[in-house]
Amino acid sequence: WAKSSGPNQYRFYASEMNARGHELLKLEGDLRLALKREEFLLYYQPQLDLRSGRIIGIEGLIRWQHPLRGFVSPVNFIPLLENSGMIIPVGEWVLRQACKAHRIIREAGFDNFRVSINVSAVQFNDEYLYEKINRTLQDEQMPQQALELEITENILIKDPMSAAETLRAIHALGVRIAIDDFGTGYSSLAYLKRLPLNVLKIDQTFVRDLINDQSDAAIAEASISLAHKLGLEVIAEGVETVQQLEFLRTHDCDLVQGYYISKPLPWHELMKFLQTKLLQHE
Ligand code: C2E
Ligand code: MG
Ligand code: MG
Ligand code: MG
Repeated sequence: WAKSSGPNQYRFYASEMNARGHELLKLEGDLRLALKREEFLLYYQPQLDLRSGRIIGIEGLIRWQHPLRGFVSPVNFIPLLENSGMIIPVGEWVLRQACKAHRIIREAGFDNFRVSINVSAVQFNDEYLYEKINRTLQDEQMPQQALELEITENILIKDPMSAAETLRAIHALGVRIAIDDFGTGYSSLAYLKRLPLNVLKIDQTFVRDLINDQSDAAIAEASISLAHKLGLEVIAEGVETVQQLEFLRTHDCDLVQGYYISKPLPWHELMKFLQTKLLQHE
């Protein structure tokens, strides 16, 4: 390939690789300082209960405000955090932030409200994950069943036995477990019965063309019915139109999340959003 097209080509290719490698190293260096410099923010995306019409929870989604680059997408920096192990302290920060947010929302009068956070597979390599969650729940006086962890089947890749055991211990605390990005992985469905789950999140790739693509509609419908037969609640992600919402309601989906309801919001905007909803229901 690059090498066979001549020595100059090769050098060009190599230097481009170096430039990109250098760029990544620099970003990783910046990430190392980001926690201390308080450059991370947790945004919150509301979740709508289709039966009651109420906002019953939020998902915490991390944001990194780089001093020069502005907002960097988690799609770009989460893998760097995972490769370097930095996802472990950052994940602890996310958990604590989410619990603090929940306390304020609870005090503002929202009952049975929940907050979910994303937990990466690498965090399951941390032998103290269970203890950290247990301690944070106590420190923040967080009702266990108000916390939901979003995991993917990837947690089973490295050490499936120990990951499943950790998850069972966390679940036994009362914490709810959601399977995120359902239908996009490579493993068999067997994990659905091996893991202690409460919620199945239909990935947005199936929701996007729900109305025009019969295969996507079939996958969404089948996922809802599978989840219900397994005793799980279903959330559809990436709902952007009223047509998608109506389709999901008709097919008995429990909850929806997406730009049609709200984008992920910074803390103060979330509180304003929730206050208006509370007033609408009084
Ligand atoms: P995810 O957990 O599947 O989150 C859903 C993503 O879809 C979010 O992207 C959200 O902003 C976006 N989204 C929500 N509604 C819509 C919609 O209607 N249309 C479209 N097109 N997109 C929508 P985001 O915030 O960029 O996060 C991307 C991924 O990064 C997340 O996917 C999650 O895997 C990861 N991530 C985010 N925050 C954290 C975190 O605190 N810890 C870990 N480990 N991973 C995180
Ligand atoms: Mg998620
Ligand atoms: Mg997802
Ligand atoms: Mg995702």
